[in-house]
Amino acid sequence: KKLGIALVGLGKYSEGQLGPALQETQYCRLTGIVTGTPNKAKTWKQTYNIPDKNIYTYQTFDQIATNPAIDIVYVVLPNALHADFVVRAAKAGKHVICEKPMATTTADARRMIAACKAAGKQLSVGYRLHVEPHNQNMMELGQRQLFGPVRHLVAENGQKEGYDTPWRLNKALAGGGPLPDVGIYCLQGSLYTKGQLPVSVTARFHPITDREKFTEVEEGMTFQLQFADGTVADCRTSYNDTYNKLRAEAAKGWFELEPAYGYGGIRGKTSRGNMKLDNVNQQARQMDAFAQCVLNGTPTTLPGELGLRDVQLIEAIYEAARTGKKVATRHIQPVVDQQ
Ligand code: NAD
Repeated sequence: KKLGIALVGLGKYSEGQLGPALQETQYCRLTGIVTGTPNKAKTWKQTYNIPDKNIYTYQTFDQIATNPAIDIVYVVLPNALHADFVVRAAKAGKHVICEKPMATTTADARRMIAACKAAGKQLSVGYRLHVEPHNQNMMELGQRQLFGPVRHLVAENGQKEGYDTPWRLNKALAGGGPLPDVGIYCLQGSLYTKGQLPVSVTARFHPITDREKFTEVEEGMTFQLQFADGTVADCRTSYNDTYNKLRAEAAKGWFELEPAYGYGGIRGKTSRGNMKLDNVNQQARQMDAFAQCVLNGTPTTLPGELGLRDVQLIEAIYEAARTGKKVATRHIQPVVDQQ
């Protein structure tokens, strides 16, 4: 059986990636949509053959509870709206996937986890790089110490084009600027390559060069993660510069991805030669992996707790940048990434 997925929010990511990926999935398929725009409902209905009974608005969404064609709700809205829709989906008795960043506050992230737990439903965060072969190789090389212990990490993600959707520059809706949006991949890349959580962070905001655009959120940030054994991860993120890299220097060599975080075209090299790995449809793999967990009753490897951990780290990085001080991160949800 293929599980039915309903996408909530038909913006760029749903339209460009998730809708098409759901045509390639083996364990789930697109059966429903939730949108505030009648014209989008019409287009999606025609493109993907979605029956009227599976089309909802944000107002009628709760009626999804009685629809057996929908097993999983996938929330693809602006970041601050994730929490309410995840809670509503759980209350409607559906399993949930929520896009990254999971939430704009740790209180919201905890509320989402609690709601899914109370409903007995699984909650996963839409972390696609955990199922991507090159990024999985970084996890394996780093965590199994195949080049010896990792001593230094460099993780950079800057996106200059296409990230100026109004909600992304609005602090209340986005929670922040490039850090929670694209810098989150630097954070994760460092953690899953090292296989540990940092014990402290330091950070600074980049100077604002475009004063009209960046009135609420940061234009860019440089931050450092410090690990218990003295390893550091030097990270930077920006909406006004372009870079895309994850590199690990270990005791007996190095390994890196550049570009590291795209939907495709990821390339990897090590001090022993090129990584010979395929690029895959990350979104299809990610949704299939979750659908299999739901079908088999096994826990997802990308749970809400992992999303909460990253929201906590993002809060710590902002605090470090605001205060100019080193911020301890020992209180953070101790979840280590799994492949
Ligand atoms: P987008 O702006 O293209 O789409 C957002 C959708 O939300 C639109 O359809 C919009 O109509 C709808 N919406 C509903 N209420 C809204 C409101 N009050 N204000 C603004 N829009 C509202 O954004 P997107 O790029 O599709 O991003 C959506 C989510 O997906 C975000 O959480 C983002 O971080 C995430 N995302 C993840 C990836 C990934 O690689 N995993 C990539 C892109 C986006």
